[in-house]
Amino acid sequence: MNETFIPSQPACDDPESIYGSLTVDGAIGQILYSFDAVSGYEQIPTINSIGRVLDQIIVSGLNVPAHTNAAVDGYALNSESLPAPGVTVKIPITGRALAGTPYDQILGPRECIRIMTGAEIPEGADTVIMQEHVQLDGEFIHIDARHRIGQNIRIAGEDIKEGSVVLEPGKFFTPADVGIVGSLGISEIKVKRKPRIAIFSTGDEIYDIGDALPSGGIYDSNRFTLSSALKRFEVDIIDLGIVPDEEASLQNALNNIAADVDMIITSGGVSVGEADYVKDVLANLGTVEFWKVAIKPGRPLAFGNLNGTIFFGLPGNPVAVLVTFYQFVLPALRKLMGINNAPPVPKFRARAIERIRKLPGRTEFQRGILEQEENGELSVRTTGKQGAGILTSMSLANCFIILPHDSTSVELDDYVIVQPFAGLMSL
Ligand code: AMP
Ligand code: MG
Repeated sequence: MNETFIPSQPACDDPESIYGSLTVDGAIGQILYSFDAVSGYEQIPTINSIGRVLDQIIVSGLNVPAHTNAAVDGYALNSESLPAPGVTVKIPITGRALAGTPYDQILGPRECIRIMTGAEIPEGADTVIMQEHVQLDGEFIHIDARHRIGQNIRIAGEDIKEGSVVLEPGKFFTPADVGIVGSLGISEIKVKRKPRIAIFSTGDEIYDIGDALPSGGIYDSNRFTLSSALKRFEVDIIDLGIVPDEEASLQNALNNIAADVDMIITSGGVSVGEADYVKDVLANLGTVEFWKVAIKPGRPLAFGNLNGTIFFGLPGNPVAVLVTFYQFVLPALRKLMGINNAPPVPKFRARAIERIRKLPGRTEFQRGILEQEENGELSVRTTGKQGAGILTSMSLANCFIILPHDSTSVELDDYVIVQPFAGLMSL
């Protein structure tokens, strides 16, 4: 009797076939458990430290601000001069203080000085009246009773106290951090060395820009997206080009580079097709920790190491490359760079303004356009066709729409989790 039904074999794009796949969190957990941060460091000028990771403790040798100073332009006086409720007073202006040019006498009661933002508060004064709140009358001001003792004054050390620990090892440097270290007068700092990361594309059909394209050939986009995603971070990139789908070529490429780099990222050749050798070669030369994650796009994702060099075999499909880069390689990069205690990449809840099809059993990372509506609420729609090869779906998007492992289709006006690209692309 002939069969009328052919049961499916497990396949990488078959959502029913989740056997042997890790969940997203499970995979990230394994990745982060398997290696440590780079241990090398270098001394660099503070002014060049944006995006680097601090490898020392920063203790302040001074107070910031250094002196108690005026927070606004106005008039400094002693609070005893402030009038009682319902009354105004007339006070003589007896001097002035500018930022960098202090008033060097002691201010007496019932007098005031003209003072500019940042100027040191003279002895005897404890309050600053904004210039907009006085009535100027020749060499006098009139003030009313609306003022508070101590207002409009920045206290010495209110930002940073002398002797305090300001920044700790593992701090990922933002512009604010560079400014803080500058404000302490520290011209050079010790930072982690940059991780070295090798990338290459695999595939007999993949050609480099400038090559004539034979029938069936396609131009490499994955090395372009990957190297560009990496360039946003302070890492050294070693681009090894395109490697053919042959065990020997892959083996050679990996053997030649592994000892020189901290991480290798490849794309393509990790599924179960006849020319997919990456996983086997990794198993021959090193260790495969896992190679399937229950996500869409990007289920075939090989992770392991070659004698301690971290290895990511990303899928070949161009969108899957970027999804797996941001969801798996990026957390690994944070750890490798030595970043500690960075605030998490923000996620939000947004209202879906269209229906989104989804099957349970995998986490989906759809590409979305997130907007704030007039009432302040966030709404999101997909960028349209969501195929793993449709790179324009990433280009049009400003966020991932994350549909959790067990969830089913999203109905109109359901709430979904979104992860803005802005948070992902700056670490
Ligand atoms: P693979 O995982 O090698 O089976 O590749 C999956 C799909 O991604 C195939 O359609 C490949 O042609 C495509 N692909 C693989 N590598 C690249 C690349 N570097 N640039 C653009 N497309 C690629
Ligand atoms: Mg391939």
